[in-house]
Amino acid sequence: MTSTVNPSTPRRTDARRTLRSVADLLDAGLVTPEQAPELEQVARQYATAIPPAFAALIETPDDPIGRQVIPDAAECHTEAVEDPDPIGDDALSPVPGIVHRYADRALLKPLLVCPLYCRFCFRREHVGPGGGVLDDAALARALDWLRTHTDIHEVVMTGGDPLMLSPRRMRAIIAALETMDHIHTIRIHTRVPVADPARLDDAMADALDTTRSMWVVAHINHARELTPQARAAIRRVQARAIPVLGQSVLLRGVNDTPDALEALLRAQVSARIRPYYLHQLDPAPGTARFHVPIREGQRLLASLRGRVTGIAWPTYVIDIPGGYGKVPIAPDYLHTGADGYLRVTAPDGAIHRLARERG
Ligand SMILES: *Cc1c(COP(=O)(O)O)cnc(C)c1O
Ligand code: SF4
Repeated sequence: MTSTVNPSTPRRTDARRTLRSVADLLDAGLVTPEQAPELEQVARQYATAIPPAFAALIETPDDPIGRQVIPDAAECHTEAVEDPDPIGDDALSPVPGIVHRYADRALLKPLLVCPLYCRFCFRREHVGPGGGVLDDAALARALDWLRTHTDIHEVVMTGGDPLMLSPRRMRAIIAALETMDHIHTIRIHTRVPVADPARLDDAMADALDTTRSMWVVAHINHARELTPQARAAIRRVQARAIPVLGQSVLLRGVNDTPDALEALLRAQVSARIRPYYLHQLDPAPGTARFHVPIREGQRLLASLRGRVTGIAWPTYVIDIPGGYGKVPIAPDYLHTGADGYLRVTAPDGAIHRLARERG
């Protein structure tokens, strides 16, 4: 177990640059000197980055913001169920930068750099500042693969974080996709709007502007991440007629209470973000401290049914370990009774028999 900085004293860091090393974290008062040796060991395996805007939200190192980004000695301890490639992406990559699991859509990963490094990331073995960017030749091969696979209608840009590209490079990729008639939809999965909102400036928003169906999916795990600056960044995207969806990971100590989850969903709707997915944590190495059991996740969501607007309702999903795909694992409101009639559970928990339908 690790000691933490006295958690009863709220503190804020006013770092002006991204915190990357154990020394940076010590300077910012986010870790103690006693923790340093173990954290140096973590640093040999996993990247750290906490941009100033995100660091400013940390009140105590173990709060819902700090937990997500401050490295912890527990990351060196891997459990038997954990896997460096928890959702089996590696086997589904026909060329570098492409992951193809579903018939109509493919992932395009132009780089492995992120604005911050989430301690629970399912790609943690791959992402990092050293992970780099697809070079021009590799990017051209990935785009060629998309060009020749005319059954692909949607490109999901992910990474790493695609908004870590320069606006010029982003525009070039979108322009290439615009030349492919079979690509109807482009989706960008990103943490930049909350991690480093200033980066999503007008130049980047202009780069995203396209006549194709463009969607931005923002990764947000706590209501406090949606600062006025983050909302302004999202607004710049929405101003280009690009809908913004939200995706969150269900995380112990971050959003695993009814109140925290409700606040997260409401904060998204208040920023005109439609919650899309609530992800079950993927079993990446050293992430056990974030695990919330599925049955608990279902109870959490059920506790919000009827209490929170339907607009705020995400699909709770698991990516089946081994590469078998994502499926919904929402609380189940329907079951068949011993008499063969279907029963449904109302938001208040009462069970009602459906008169006509037999199971
Ligand atoms: C998650 C994922 C997608 C996108 O899935 P949606 O359910 O459409 O959001 C596409 N390809 C791969 C390999 C994925 O893991
Ligand atoms: S931003 Fe996404 S890819 Fe990057 S560390 Fe966080 S979860 Fe992983």
